[in-house]
Amino acid sequence: MKIHNLGLPRIGEKRELKFALEAYWDKKISLDELTQKTDALREQTWAWQLAAGLDFIAVGDFPLYDQVLDTSILFSAIPQRFQHLSELDQQFAIARGDTCCQHAASDMTKWFNTNYHYIVPELDSETEFNLNAEKLLNEVAAAQTFLKSQNAKQQLKLKLIGPVSYLWLAKINNLNQLDDLLTPLLACYRELFKKIAATGIEWIQIEEPILTTEPESHWQNALRLSYAYLNQKRSVKLLLTTYFADVDEHIELINSLAVDGVHIDAVAGQPKLDDWLVKLNSEKVLSVGVIDGRNIWRSDLAAKLKSLQTIYDRKADNLWIAPSCSLQHVPVDLELETRLQQPVRSWLAFAKQKLVELNILKSALVDYEVDPVIAYSKPVTERLNSDLTLNVSLRQQIQALGFEHTQRDNEYNQRKIAQKSLNLPLLPTTTIGSFPQTAQVRHVRARFKRGEISETEYQSYIKAYIADAIAKQLEAGLDVLVHGEPERNDMVEFFGEQLDGFAITQYAWVQSYGSRCVKPPIIYGDIERKQAITVDTIQYAQSLTDKLVKGMLTGPVTILNWSFVRDDLSRQSVAKQIAFALRGEVSDLEAAGIKIIQVDEPAIREGLPLKKAHWQNYLGWAVEVFRIATSCVKDATQIHTHMCYSEFQDIVGAISALDADVISVEASRSDMSLLKPFAKPNYQNEIGLGVYDIHSPIVPNVDDLQAKIELSLNYIEIEQCWVNPDCGLKTRKWEEVLPALNNLVKAAEQVRAEL
Ligand code: GLN
Ligand code: ZN
Repeated sequence: MKIHNLGLPRIGEKRELKFALEAYWDKKISLDELTQKTDALREQTWAWQLAAGLDFIAVGDFPLYDQVLDTSILFSAIPQRFQHLSELDQQFAIARGDTCCQHAASDMTKWFNTNYHYIVPELDSETEFNLNAEKLLNEVAAAQTFLKSQNAKQQLKLKLIGPVSYLWLAKINNLNQLDDLLTPLLACYRELFKKIAATGIEWIQIEEPILTTEPESHWQNALRLSYAYLNQKRSVKLLLTTYFADVDEHIELINSLAVDGVHIDAVAGQPKLDDWLVKLNSEKVLSVGVIDGRNIWRSDLAAKLKSLQTIYDRKADNLWIAPSCSLQHVPVDLELETRLQQPVRSWLAFAKQKLVELNILKSALVDYEVDPVIAYSKPVTERLNSDLTLNVSLRQQIQALGFEHTQRDNEYNQRKIAQKSLNLPLLPTTTIGSFPQTAQVRHVRARFKRGEISETEYQSYIKAYIADAIAKQLEAGLDVLVHGEPERNDMVEFFGEQLDGFAITQYAWVQSYGSRCVKPPIIYGDIERKQAITVDTIQYAQSLTDKLVKGMLTGPVTILNWSFVRDDLSRQSVAKQIAFALRGEVSDLEAAGIKIIQVDEPAIREGLPLKKAHWQNYLGWAVEVFRIATSCVKDATQIHTHMCYSEFQDIVGAISALDADVISVEASRSDMSLLKPFAKPNYQNEIGLGVYDIHSPIVPNVDDLQAKIELSLNYIEIEQCWVNPDCGLKTRKWEEVLPALNNLVKAAEQVRAEL
């Protein structure tokens, strides 16, 4: 039996990759320095796997920006507009846009149901795939040198996205196009396999997560065809890898594919291992993903051992065990968390600890060393019985919530009349909430957290930032203002810090996209709001201006989806607890005179289960908890929400059901066609057009913005429209934000003037 791992975080223990990339982009370090730093980080990931005693060390798992973008580059699928650029700069230009020639970046979207974002390949009839394996082969050579230097006997295993999932991720829907692209792409894979075999690598972990998404029959055919073709004259072995759900319904299909093994996720799904034992061709390796690659709880190894024992007894030679998916979705190392309180700390395991869990399991299965398993699992039992996780009176209050707690007083049409009191112009302009988190804000917050400055000093700094942000917005001429969120390191962690039941970490970062990381708080117990969280800050901002300032909260589903959530209570129940806490905050804001309250739900879509059969249940409770959080206000109080990265056509019904008065969406990278599903009668309320792509440093000009507004009017009536950037501005610089907002206001004015 072998133990292996599907991938690791590449950001480094303390986000070294982020800082190196950003320094390079800001021209503070050279290409050589960047390469030195990233080579060292990559080597570290090999060293961790070695130290944990894994049988395989994964290579091909260190994209500087994104794994799908690396695949595009591996097969030379470079959009025309970036072809003149060389290597690294080309890669970064595709991901971030090209400031010197003003070329827009490629689209970016969520990786399955995670909060990781990948760069969507742009493939069309012009695409010519060519194998460009130099970088990958260099990486293999470097890994081999490293293993030799450590006298390690382990083998390398190459991690690679499979051809069918790659095309699926590129959003090819047209069948003819699929056929036209697949054939030349497969030729490249075959060429690559030859080169990989020549390096001495025996196994390729070829990832086809498309299998967990209920692929239509043409995709299933593409899988059959591809693996039959790739089987010819192949001298590397393929481990067909799936993750994020079970693939039981495809056992026959998978078994028919010419591959040498299969990896299945045994955490996200509930695969019937007995069926796999019986039905999977006995020569094929079965890799079982038993360690949770998506969450941070210490594994109950005693239970896992039990569930693996029969399968081990029957298939020991061809059994591998692994985490359920790549560990890129969990933080690097629990050892760094010196401030986490016990016993909570003892309940956790991060990526490095999860590798060790595999080792403990292997020793128990192979060498009958069972005592370490029992000792390791003890804190897990303690957690399940701990009274730190239970708040009886809170549970009673939640129990008492009924239908009436999900209803506004009146329907939107009536509320709209009451909201005329807000005195907003046609096409009101606003922003999504955050303003630049400058180095200074972060520095001051860090000093405050280290106790180097007092609470009063910190608060007066925050107030000064807010006053400045309000002045800048007035200057730009925006209609509805925000306070800028300077007090928030992160839109979820900030609320986690104030609510009972959450633990906050120091270094538990995970990559969100490119150099951006998030540090999800940990929900270990029942959630309760002990006092108002945002009221003083918003009230202060409102006191500075006659224009309206939006109250700004993060919604229950987003707090849930962007936290590491306890696994001993249903997600729905946890979400309800968060919603109940937010409901109190919304009421307090309204009582403090705040007229517009935005409750952001950017993570609703990513929480959709991969299988459509489970959608209705999820959307049902997601809508319910949003309404619990927001329905307590009077008609005249306007509720906003915001979503990013969404394709909305499947969920527009649920979005309408949220019954927010205004939703702002991110559509600027889509020629505004993302708005199509919102056309009446699907959606009747108001909608903020995200016309400025905040993920790119490019400052949009007035004409482009005006054109985007006008394009939107193809789908949405002008009376429904607001004008805003497509997301918060925290990652941008003031030098970019100020001209962009000026242009945004002017664009709205021009559209109004031309009516
Ligand atoms: N209000 C948040 C901000 O502006 C929303 C961010 C998001 O949607 N991801 O930062
Ligand atoms: Zn957003």
